[in-house]
Amino acid sequence: MISFLDLNIINKPYEEAFQNKLKQVMNSGWYILGEEVKAFEENFANCCNSKYCIGVGNGLDAITLSFLAYIENGNLQKGDEIIVPANTYIASILGILHAGLVPVLVEPDIESYNINPKLIEEKISTKTKGILVVHLYGQLANMDEIIEIGFKYDLLIVEDCAQAHGLNFKGSHTRTFSFYPGKNLGAIGDGGAIVTNDEKLSNTILKLRNYGSEKKYYNELIGFNSRLDELQAAFLSCKLPNLFFENEKRRVVAKRYLSEIKNEKIKLPSCLDINNHVFHLFVIRTDNREELQAYLFNNGVHTLIHYPVPPHKQKALKEWNDLSFPITEKIHKEVLSLPMSPVMTDDEVSKVIEVLNNY
Ligand SMILES: *Cc1c(COP(=O)(O)O)cnc(C)c1O
Repeated sequence: MISFLDLNIINKPYEEAFQNKLKQVMNSGWYILGEEVKAFEENFANCCNSKYCIGVGNGLDAITLSFLAYIENGNLQKGDEIIVPANTYIASILGILHAGLVPVLVEPDIESYNINPKLIEEKISTKTKGILVVHLYGQLANMDEIIEIGFKYDLLIVEDCAQAHGLNFKGSHTRTFSFYPGKNLGAIGDGGAIVTNDEKLSNTILKLRNYGSEKKYYNELIGFNSRLDELQAAFLSCKLPNLFFENEKRRVVAKRYLSEIKNEKIKLPSCLDINNHVFHLFVIRTDNREELQAYLFNNGVHTLIHYPVPPHKQKALKEWNDLSFPITEKIHKEVLSLPMSPVMTDDEVSKVIEVLNNY
């Protein structure tokens, strides 16, 4: 069986380095917000061409704390509206809600799966103060048009980069990351980070993640406990130097899928520029998804669905259940994620292609 994603194989090359780090951190006797977090934050800021990086507990907190910090600093107010793609993982929307802001959903472009900039302006009201862009499946959203709209309406732009580590980002917006194990840069547990060039924002998030405190036992803000773990930071530092190489390996797999999968029942994802995509996922569409998924499984290819239920149809968001986002709904009915990872062998890729072409 070709697995969808084998984290054990992905992390195997780092085993010895991880064990050394574990010993080192353990013996240091300092387990929270120490040298490893500091070192990783510095390297990750560099990797994102950003001035500041703040490690936090996970990707959802990274979104929530970014928006809360903008509120704390007076750039946003509770109740402000934030534009967000209707077609995203629910965490993007939850982060906005947890900050006391109002998500306003916008339909995606069916080819790229990312937010359709042409549909943003009609959703802008006097209360709209920001856009949360999501680079879904690892593909850069249409930033040129989004930045233009942001400029025209004076909107804050935050980017949810949980699926887009190592992408060629455009503009100098605040960006949020997740290091959930399955992401392109994944920890051995939970982790997240925010990168920004805004020093004041960075300082506010540094407090918010640590009980609202800069100086121990002195609390300036109603803060949280959401810190990147010292041990996870140490593990991430072992993997970070290989991020660009691993993304390149994902591109090699994607290039083969794009050029060799030939079956009229299968719609391949659009990819305008392979260098603006880090292929966190390779997502195809088909009319008869459950049938295709079963066929692939019976032929030794494991696939997953990202995601089966759109956010506005979730029980948690009952008040939106009757809203209609036909493109988002169509995508959620048709998508299927093929095996994709930096450790897939040529033979495995060939097998996936062969089985798909015989369908
Ligand atoms: C994974 C993910 C998140 C949340 O990250 P966690 O670390 O699991 O909290 C947010 N947004 C998107 C688009 C994601 O894929």
